[in-house]
Amino acid sequence: MTRMPSHLAQPGPLGAYSDAARRMASEINLHAVVGGNAGKWCAVRLSDGGVDHTVYDTWCDAVAFQLHPHQCLYYLLPAVAVDDMLTDQAAEVLLVHHRRLYAINGGRQPHPPFPCNGRCGR
Ligand SMILES: [Zn+2]
Repeated sequence: MTRMPSHLAQPGPLGAYSDAARRMASEINLHAVVGGNAGKWCAVRLSDGGVDHTVYDTWCDAVAFQLHPHQCLYYLLPAVAVDDMLTDQAAEVLLVHHRRLYAINGGRQPHPPFPCNGRCGR
C-alpha cells in the first residue's frame, strides 16, 4: 500500500485513499464526462464524498440547494479528456483542505469570483 502523509484521511479498505475520496473522484468524473457539463458545479459532501447527482449552472445555486451547505465543497466541472480526470489523490487533498477550511473559517467556503445571483445567501 502507498504510504500517505499522516495529515491525510485514513485509507479505505480498498486502497491508499479514503472511501470518501474515491467516491468523490468517481462521482465527479461521471459528471465531468457528460457533454455540456463543463463550467457547471457539483456539491460534494465533506462527510463521505458523495454528491446529490445534480449539476448546477452556478455556484450560488449549488449552495442554495444543499440542506447543509457548509458541509459541502463545490466543484467546478472542467472540460476534460479521458486522461484528465480527477484522481483519488486530488480528491483526497480537496476533501482534507475543505474540512480544514471549514473548521477554521466557521464552516464557509469563500464565494468564488463569479457574479452572485443572490440565491446563495451571501
Ligand atoms: Zn452567490
